[in-house]
Amino acid sequence: MNPAPYVGRFAPSPTGPLHAGSLVAAVASFLDARAAGGRWLVRMEDLDRPRCEAGAADTILRQLEAYGLHWDGAVLVQSQRDDAYAAALATLQASGAAYPCACSRRQLAQAPRSHEGEIIYPGTCRNGLPAGAIARAWRVRVPDVSARFHDRIHGDLQQNLARDVGDFIVRRADGLFAYQLAVVVDDAYQGVTHVVRGADLLWNTPRQIYLQSLLGLPTPAYAHVPLITNTAGQKLSKQTRAPALPASGQGAMLAQALAALGHPPPPGLSEARAAELLVWASAHWRIENVPIQARIANPSLAFDNQP
Ligand code: GLU
Repeated sequence: MNPAPYVGRFAPSPTGPLHAGSLVAAVASFLDARAAGGRWLVRMEDLDRPRCEAGAADTILRQLEAYGLHWDGAVLVQSQRDDAYAAALATLQASGAAYPCACSRRQLAQAPRSHEGEIIYPGTCRNGLPAGAIARAWRVRVPDVSARFHDRIHGDLQQNLARDVGDFIVRRADGLFAYQLAVVVDDAYQGVTHVVRGADLLWNTPRQIYLQSLLGLPTPAYAHVPLITNTAGQKLSKQTRAPALPASGQGAMLAQALAALGHPPPPGLSEARAAELLVWASAHWRIENVPIQARIANPSLAFDNQP
């Protein structure tokens, strides 16, 4: 049987314009798809409405075009997908995998934390809500077993969800569906076979694989590319005031992104435009050459992005 044809995706959250860190993730997923002769989709992850910025989705699409990152098909928009997420939640509720939780952030302030600083849920509501408590969120109960997973860059890894994450939220107290649920529903809906994204999401992968197993959805192949940080080691983001990608000089910026991905363009392409660099990079893309570091502090990508 032939393997499923390659479908990749880039899934930005429209909280602001793309910056150098998001460019690296976009370029990696684009090249991995194009090098495999596959399709490359774009999905707007505007799930967390309060964090989204008006106009950012359009800005992101214009930026992708300006960098020669042309996507296939229509852009899927998560804020229009509530029915699909509700159906998935109903499946989890029906099987007993999801349970209501009444705990507030304040009540969980003393709970242990993961390496990433996330609360490891202590299981307070796992066997039923305390008397008189009102359900706020929905969580998925996780097994206390060490589960293996494979990353094309990081190799074989394992995580015990109960120990390292705890029962996690699939519908938030404010009624919004959680990223973990939406991402698996949408990856399956779009037929995504290969996820290539930033290494900040590496340890989210076991949660997503677990949800796929509960929902009977296929598990794509995963690859997590280095996260570009500023010199203080912070992820580039709106909070850390990462500058938007420059509106000109895309070639030079793209060359830096390729270098960060272990694919520095040859000297002959030092003046090349974005489209030409992408043709070269698609032909030379080898995921084995992407650095395994989870974070790369790249002050030139982070700050010196003036044309
Ligand atoms: N929307 C997420 C982000 O911008 C990416 C999600 C994913 O690639 O799975 O960080």
